[in-house]
Amino acid sequence: MDKHPSIFEILKRFDTEEKCVQHFERIRWPHGPTCIKCGSTRIMKFKTLGKTKKIRYLYECVDCRYQFSVTVGTVFHDSHLPLTKWFLGIYLICSAKKGVSAKQLQRQLSVSYKTAWYMAHRIRLAMQDDDDFCQKFAGVCEVDETYIGGKGKGPRGRGAANKIPVVAIKERTSGKIRMKALNNVKKSTLASFIRTHAEPGAEIHTDEFTSYKWLDSSEFVHNTVNHKETYVKAGKIHTNGIENVWSLFKRAITGVFHKVSDKYLPLYLNEFSYRFNHREQVCLLYRVLETSC
Ligand SMILES: [Zn+2]
Repeated sequence: MDKHPSIFEILKRFDTEEKCVQHFERIRWPHGPTCIKCGSTRIMKFKTLGKTKKIRYLYECVDCRYQFSVTVGTVFHDSHLPLTKWFLGIYLICSAKKGVSAKQLQRQLSVSYKTAWYMAHRIRLAMQDDDDFCQKFAGVCEVDETYIGGKGKGPRGRGAANKIPVVAIKERTSGKIRMKALNNVKKSTLASFIRTHAEPGAEIHTDEFTSYKWLDSSEFVHNTVNHKETYVKAGKIHTNGIENVWSLFKRAITGVFHKVSDKYLPLYLNEFSYRFNHREQVCLLYRVLETSC
């Protein structure tokens, strides 16, 4: 994001549902509304009163007579919430460095806890970065795992019985990360994660955990650092990038979400890595908030 809009700017710019609809329409259909059924661009716009007596902004295709709204097929679809609240919710979620809890959204948007929770999860789902996931990481990549949940610090393996292992890979040149919750930290599990996200020939930096030993004789170049001795070997072999990710992530979990169930952990991981990877960029959801669209 080049320039962060302030909450004041957002509230001023999107103070009515009509302004939000018009804005979203320009983002969704830069060349004018298009029928989502037949692709025609001959569209009539009209307003109608919904069941709850709220004004609905609709489109009708002149060719196939299909009626639709600007939100159909998007994360806002099927929601009774006005776009004014959605936009503000996106703003709050995207601009908070450590994430926003449903409880906080509930208070700030004056919605029920259920609605706030649903909203936050919809936005997190939209944050799944499918395109980025097609491209494997190359060059120097750091890989490490950590354990989320449970009580106290335990060692790897048996001591981590009540914790969920999470693995992450960070590409050093782009600074991007990918994270995954795992069932275990066996060699085969970690190997499958690394093979999914790293190009053969990539230089993988890990610590000396035995489940990474296979990398020595694999399609990757493997460098290890022994954390008992040093944190940086030969000036460049380290996993400090990932250590930084873990400390941010754990602060987000304990400070904001308090408890994360294993069912929803993958969604939190999505949100976290999305925000991390797009920290310098205009993300898809932020387009909603750009003035110049
Ligand atoms: Zn049509």
